[in-house]
Amino acid sequence: MTAPNTPAPSLPLAPNNEAISGASLNINLAALQDNYTFLASKSSSAQCAAVIKADGYGIGLEQAATSLWDAGCRTFFVAVPQEGIRTRAVLEEATIYVLNGLFGPDCPAIYAAHELRPVIGSLAELEDWQNYCKDQGRALACALHFDTGMNRLGMGMEEAQKISQNPDHSDWVKIALIMSHLACGDEPMHPLNTQQLDRFRAIRALFADIPASFANSAGIFLGPDYHFDLLRPGIALYGGQAVGSHPNPMQCVATMKSRILDIRYVPQGHSISYGAAQITKRDSRIGILSIGYADGYIRAGGSTDAHTGAHVWLEGHSVPIFGRVTMDLIMVDLTDLPVGLAKRGMWVELFGTNIAIDDVAASAGTIGYEMLTSLSKRALRSYLPA
Ligand SMILES: *Cc1c(COP(=O)(O)O)cnc(C)c1O
Repeated sequence: MTAPNTPAPSLPLAPNNEAISGASLNINLAALQDNYTFLASKSSSAQCAAVIKADGYGIGLEQAATSLWDAGCRTFFVAVPQEGIRTRAVLEEATIYVLNGLFGPDCPAIYAAHELRPVIGSLAELEDWQNYCKDQGRALACALHFDTGMNRLGMGMEEAQKISQNPDHSDWVKIALIMSHLACGDEPMHPLNTQQLDRFRAIRALFADIPASFANSAGIFLGPDYHFDLLRPGIALYGGQAVGSHPNPMQCVATMKSRILDIRYVPQGHSISYGAAQITKRDSRIGILSIGYADGYIRAGGSTDAHTGAHVWLEGHSVPIFGRVTMDLIMVDLTDLPVGLAKRGMWVELFGTNIAIDDVAASAGTIGYEMLTSLSKRALRSYLPA
């Protein structure tokens, strides 16, 4: 007898290999580790944590967590408890903070069971954690999040004073970290940076013996004033550009490639792709790539007569997308390439070492963060080293 969920033996397994894949996503975990080491070296005093929320910024949470652990990282930040539980499953000894904190009354027990530390952003949450700790007779660790100018999660100065003046709190919860988050760290000259720094320093003075964390990726590049005790990079670990005005010092981690399915001739004056949004201005050679927005390539990276889209990389040449990005296919203009260079079946880079993901994002009116976290499961994933 066959169990109800066992596929019939004659059904082939769904294969997933390069021979039959339209798009491939390669994740260079050695580069991720090098990026960690580089960021950690930017501060002589602070430890370096890693933010691995959103499936490790799209590259794979478990792979990111274990590689970063091997590179020396011991503290991890995720956004939601499910991500924390997945991280705990692969890293028994890591310190894991959950940025979005306690969602409701069931959360404290779940956090405690997986040894997750909530990042607490309100007095109500603190009370929930405190009550749970009292019930359990254990002072469990948490972080306190203070809002210094983002107006998102976190408590203000008034709450900081309340907490610091109430010894009852420290009896029942272990405040292991205080933190805040920069709103404009990617713009080094933005006046909000120093305002937030001043506010965080004032709050920190109330919790003098508790480690403090302030810098995300961009904050690390703002210099030692912003480093405090624990760095909290995300995007830069994954090769993204943290600071708009600097050349990006990080190594590329994610490379997306696709195959040329066909090369066709389109005479001058014809439209290509949905909406007839771009018309050939000359007789053109057009390559059709087996990748689309369903693979996580951003649809807004397409091209119209009014707006030049993103570029792809083919045998040393930067080649523009032509027409709209569709669900499964993208067209590129090969007309300027030497005839015969592009061939059916050839792999083309959509982003990676030659085409920066941030440049693709910029042509699509978004940021590298959104591109990375939008990567879908359809592209064939490979990890280096495996
Ligand atoms: C996402 C996040 C980070 C990491 O930010 P990057 O800009 O990706 O380095 C750090 N701290 C908090 C609170 C975050 O939400």
